[in-house]
Amino acid sequence: MTTLRLILADQLTRGLASLKDLDPAQDVVLMAEVMEEANYVRHHKQKLVFLFAAMRRFADELRDEGVTVDYVRLDEAGNTGSLGGEVARAIERHRPDRLLLTEPGEWRVLEMMQDWREELSCDVLLREDDRFLCSRGDFERWATGRKGLRMEFFYREVRKSTGFLMDDDKPEGGRWNFDAENRKKLPKGMAIPDRLRFPPDQTTQEVMTLVEARFPDNFGTLDDFGWAVTRKDALKALASFISSALPTFGDYQDAMKAGGPFIFHGLISPYINAGLLTPREVCEAAERAYRAGAAPLNAVEGFIRQIIGWREYIRGVYWLKMPDYRETNHLEADRKLPDLYWTAETEMNCLANCVADTRDHAYAHHIQRLMVLGNFALLAGVRPREVQDWYLLVYADAYEWVELPNVHGMALFADGGLLGSKPYASSGAYIDRMSDYCGPCRFDVRQKTGPDACPFNYLYWDFLSRNERKLGDNQRLAMPYRTLSKMTPERRAEIGRDAKAFLDALPSDYEG
Ligand SMILES: Cc1cc2nc3c(=O)[nH]c(=O)nc-3n(C[C@H](O)[C@H](O)[C@H](O)COP(=O)(O)OP(=O)(O)OC[C@H]3O[C@@H](n4cnc5c(N)ncnc54)[C@H](O)[C@@H]3O)c2cc1C
Repeated sequence: MTTLRLILADQLTRGLASLKDLDPAQDVVLMAEVMEEANYVRHHKQKLVFLFAAMRRFADELRDEGVTVDYVRLDEAGNTGSLGGEVARAIERHRPDRLLLTEPGEWRVLEMMQDWREELSCDVLLREDDRFLCSRGDFERWATGRKGLRMEFFYREVRKSTGFLMDDDKPEGGRWNFDAENRKKLPKGMAIPDRLRFPPDQTTQEVMTLVEARFPDNFGTLDDFGWAVTRKDALKALASFISSALPTFGDYQDAMKAGGPFIFHGLISPYINAGLLTPREVCEAAERAYRAGAAPLNAVEGFIRQIIGWREYIRGVYWLKMPDYRETNHLEADRKLPDLYWTAETEMNCLANCVADTRDHAYAHHIQRLMVLGNFALLAGVRPREVQDWYLLVYADAYEWVELPNVHGMALFADGGLLGSKPYASSGAYIDRMSDYCGPCRFDVRQKTGPDACPFNYLYWDFLSRNERKLGDNQRLAMPYRTLSKMTPERRAEIGRDAKAFLDALPSDYEG
């Protein structure tokens, strides 16, 4: 029996379900660079280079093992430009008995694959993606009958089922969560370790030329491209993170620094999401560091929670709630995405830095994404669809299954509180506490209104005021709503005026 095995750009894992029983004598692996996938949003140039180069290197590694790989390049004559078209062409070429697939990460692609069952002339088999620690079925069982889907409770279950940081049936160190210790501001002059970055190899350079030629107007620059494109190098990046940054990851996890987004973060999400690293091995490496006394518990627990907690939970919510999930707009946000998200041109130093980091590295860390870029879109009332598309496009690690719940649910509260019990809205004080952005900023974070006030301040109170009907009875917002209720009508009007004037003056003509 001949099997055609399709491998997608985010399935670059040798142990992938659909590669498990590969017979090199009979089977063909199909990999295709197609315009439809490269273009469905206009991805950051670094994301395109990372994925195409990683695909090409993965294909080379399979060939080195003696596997027949049918690899269709983007610029190859005859490339139909669509995944379905390339699968159909490959079936013509190889006449397989069956097409074997691993379930994709995105709803859109799953629908496409389901149609193939009707359209193609061979059997189509879809295997579960077992690279996640919690299957879709297990998440559904956990979620069924619960009033709220709080991540913390899910996380504890995964800790128990995987055994990570467990001391028999008790959490290591007597607590499940050490987050309270993980909110320190970066001390002035604190040394940040150099991070292992990888100069583009020959394959990567070829792909860079292709991307510059075919996607010249896409967002982002390639100047600082330093991503690993092979599993071997991704493992080196992981080892370097574990030894040089993990020990301080916990303490400064929420800190932000002008001119440098990496701080003590892992920089591993593109690798895990594309399949070059598995979540399990990443957590095992972190736990080994803890057991060897090389990293403290608050750092290792915090890091492992991000992966077996947040990452798995986000994926579970995506599959549980799609396809309706992306359509909700609980706060009826209706503003166009401001141009500053593309240009970084704004006098707000925090936003300018976070957009510039994103443009230069296809990366910003979690708090930049949530508490600066997301917070601003939330307070300004930007349409969820436009914000989602922006996030999906700009980050090297972005795929809809992980981007959507993070943006739609966590950052924008567009799901009405399925994911978070309150919106992550904050004034400038939070950004000032966690970063060095505010000092040199042209706005004054201590002023609440007026031409020099930090816009986050009046936008925050205006947001609460505008959304009082929907958020006013949220227990977790009781304190700010009490403060709001004590403001005089004149003060509230002043805040509303400043917010309106600021938002109306924001250019929003850019099409991306
Ligand atoms: C608005 C918004 C959008 C986001 N979009 C994406 C996205 O498109 N793709 C993506 O992988 N992550 C996304 N995240 C989650 C998180 O910001 C990134 O995973 C993280 O910044 C990646 O950098 P790192 O590897 O240095 O992470 P670290 O800070 O070192 O964390 C370690 C790992 O934990 C995992 N992780 C942490 N938080 C989350 C989370 N909330 N959801 C899923 N995984 C998590 C990632 O795999 C990450 O590599 C988003 C977060 C927000 C608030």
